[in-house]
Amino acid sequence: MYPHPNWIEVDLAQFRKNIGAVRCHIGKSLYCLPVKANAYGHGLIPMAKAAAEAGVDYLGVSCLQEGAALRQAGVITPILVLGAIHEDQVVDLLALDLEFTISSRFKAELVAGHCRKVGRKGRVHLEVDTGMQRTGVRAASAVPLFAFLHEAGCFEVVGLYSHFATAGDPQDPIALRQHNEFHELLAHPIFQGHSLVTHIANSGGTTHLPQAHREMVRPAFLSLGYPPGALPGIAPCFSLKSTVSFFKVVQAGEGVSYGHTYKASRQTRIVTVPIGYGDGYRRALSSRGSVLIRGKRYPIAGTICMDQFMVDIRDGEAYVGDEVVLIGKQGGEEIPLQEIARLCDTIPYEILCGFTERTPRIYVETLS
Ligand SMILES: *Cc1c(COP(=O)(O)O)cnc(C)c1O
Repeated sequence: MYPHPNWIEVDLAQFRKNIGAVRCHIGKSLYCLPVKANAYGHGLIPMAKAAAEAGVDYLGVSCLQEGAALRQAGVITPILVLGAIHEDQVVDLLALDLEFTISSRFKAELVAGHCRKVGRKGRVHLEVDTGMQRTGVRAASAVPLFAFLHEAGCFEVVGLYSHFATAGDPQDPIALRQHNEFHELLAHPIFQGHSLVTHIANSGGTTHLPQAHREMVRPAFLSLGYPPGALPGIAPCFSLKSTVSFFKVVQAGEGVSYGHTYKASRQTRIVTVPIGYGDGYRRALSSRGSVLIRGKRYPIAGTICMDQFMVDIRDGEAYVGDEVVLIGKQGGEEIPLQEIARLCDTIPYEILCGFTERTPRIYVETLS
């Protein structure tokens, strides 16, 4: 890796602490860590390996491609592909020993054909839709589909799961309704006597609905430390950092950056930070976001460019080469991820997933 002025710093000690906190909270349930979308921008392989070493039982991915990358990196932890699979992926799913999701009779029949052809059993989880309307069979069809999977003779039905559409609020009636529907379905005689791994809890469900922990939980956002304090010891392990690349003095009335949307109200000091929307640092932060330099918070001046932006430090002190914190802590100050998401009118998940390959991920052990 060549030296680069920007980096995403992931504190693996804090990540392991989060995993320990979740583990403590879920008791005997299995722990599946979804690492889809480059582990929410934290880096797929390093996060998966750290999680496996910290004793996570399962990794969740969205698609074959992510599961294959993990296997190629030598990860032997069970992996569940959560997204819908496509027919031309079945051979590789089987060969790479990836567990995958069946959520319709149509797909089940296609998969069965491929399993018979290659003489391998598909290790599958049956997904039941209890209200998300994304993928999954309706509860009423789950029983006949389960029967089909059993009788086909080419599946090992490992688990049965559902997904919450809302679970951030402990009293949310929709989540409670979904949980009850799943719970009632699982009481059906056809599911008794099999050692099925049943699971429905994402981060919200893991935090707020202990009755939804069942045999396995799937909290990703929580495991990454969000929201901080959701469980004792939970804190973010992600920071975004850069380095001051340029310093200048701008006179009163001069415009800054594309379109001159920012005008210096008096003579002021402007520094340049070499990161932009091409890295995933969103343009919506133009003249709205702030950064930390030498422990002080300063406003972004003007539009964010593809690869750079400017900061107005007024009479503050900054030198070329100084560390700039865009997300995370410096001195006693902090720019939380949630602040960035709010300014961009989105959720923190989308901000995390948006950082591109250009920004290297650096792994440290600091437990700040
Ligand atoms: C992404 C995902 C999760 C994790 O969601 P968080 O809110 O990050 O905990 C769990 N289950 C499924 C099916 C998912 O797609």
